[in-house]
Formats: sequence, C-alpha cells, structure tokens
Amino acid sequence: MRIPLVAGNWKMNTTVNEAEILVYTMLEKLEQIDGVEKVLCPPFVSLVAINIMLQNSSISLGAQNMHFENKGAYTGEISPPMLSELCEYVILGHSERRWYFGETDGIINKKIKAAFTNKLTPILCVGERLEDNEAGKTEEIIGKQLRAALNGTEPVSDLVLAYEPVWAIGTGKAASNEQATATIGFIRNLLAELWNKGIAQDLRIIYGGSVTNTNIAELISQKEIDGVLVGGASLKAEEFLSIVDQTAAIKRNIQ
Ligand code: PEP
Repeated sequence: MRIPLVAGNWKMNTTVNEAEILVYTMLEKLEQIDGVEKVLCPPFVSLVAINIMLQNSSISLGAQNMHFENKGAYTGEISPPMLSELCEYVILGHSERRWYFGETDGIINKKIKAAFTNKLTPILCVGERLEDNEAGKTEEIIGKQLRAALNGTEPVSDLVLAYEPVWAIGTGKAASNEQATATIGFIRNLLAELWNKGIAQDLRIIYGGSVTNTNIAELISQKEIDGVLVGGASLKAEEFLSIVDQTAAIKRNIQ
C-alpha cells in the first residue's frame, strides 16, 4: 500500500521569521492528521530553524533544489551532504528550475544520482508545456524527461515522482482528473519498463499544479494519484491543513 504524500513547495517565499510562524501556526493540527506523509519545503535559509521545530514530529522536511557535487568552488550552491543533515527530501527537476535556470535533463540526472548517494529522497518533477500538451506530445516529453533523469540508476524505493504540467503551475488551471490519471498511469508503466514492475507499483506518483482546498477532493479521489505537490496554497496555513486533511480522509475511504 502506498502511503499518500502531501508536500508544500514554498518556493522563494517567507523570510526565516515568516517561515517559523507558518510552521508554528500549522504544526499542532498537522500532527493530528494521520495516514498521510507531510513534507514541508521552505527556502534553504529556513531549513535549520524548521528542522529544529520539526524534531520529534511526524512531519518531514525537504529542500527545493541542490547541486550535484558534494563540495567545492560552486559559489552560492548547496550540496547534498549539507542537506542530508537537515532534510529527508529534495525537490529536483521542478519546471521553474528547468525553464528559468536552464536545468537540463543531464543536470537533473546528476542531481538524482547525488540524492540517492546521499540518502535524500528526490521528489522528481516532470511535466509538459502547454504547446506540447496541445500538440499531443505529453507522453513523448515526459518519457524523455523520465528516461534521462533515471539514466544509469538502479531501482530504489526512495523516490517520489511528481507529475506537474507546466501549464498548470501557478495558473489556477489544474489538470483534469482524466488528464492527471492518464499521465500518472503512463509514468507508472514507464517506471516498470525502466526499473521493474514491483518498484513501479510501490513508488508514489503525485500530482502538482494549482491544487487548492476546493479541487483536492476530486484529484485525490483518483486511485492512481498518490498525493499532491502544492505551491501557492501551501503558504496559507488553513488551506494547506485542509488539503492534507481531505487527502487523509479520502484516501482512508478508498484504500
Ligand atoms: C509547484 O510549484 O510545484 C506548484 C504545484 O505550484 P502551484 O500549486 O502554485 O501551482
């Protein structure tokens, strides 16, 4: 059975003080929600403070990016061993990194391997742009991204896949259940081909893109969708709590 996962990607939002307040506001209620793995991904500068706040809690911490080298002359970068002292998860291949910062499939592949070596669980994001979607190239694009990201890797259970259509991120236009389910099914089949069937069945594949407290119920009711990666709505304590709460309640009923 795959444990549902809800992750909040805070992106470049919140100062350390604001991040602490957000965690403080949600912590007690988040702790009371069982049956869902909860992951918070604040900016790098808040990881130490939030790590302290989450000690002895059931909530996991994740980073939003990392370099693939362990150390060296890479001014401004953060390495896997720096993160593995603080976090369990790291978001890799997010579309904002791919499109704003020129992250290639090759770079993402190196980061994935570095995460595995350093005992960090990647939340690997894949997703197609609007023009690719409209041209019927969704599977082609995602297939290419996934094959490249996992090139040369051995099957591991410490991986989360996030299907995040670029056209759905921060636009208020989430994918339909049918779109999300079909693409997640495609990803699971491809994982079975690239790694093996058993691991493909065990890995969590989550959806991300304009998830809110009003569309979560529909999305998470789909058996294939194992959770969500939430951007904008994860910065609002009440809304994020509601997303986690609804996920727990719905998955409890359908499993
Ligand atoms: C994201 O950045 O991963 C994301 C899904 O953003 P949003 O929920 O704001 O669309």
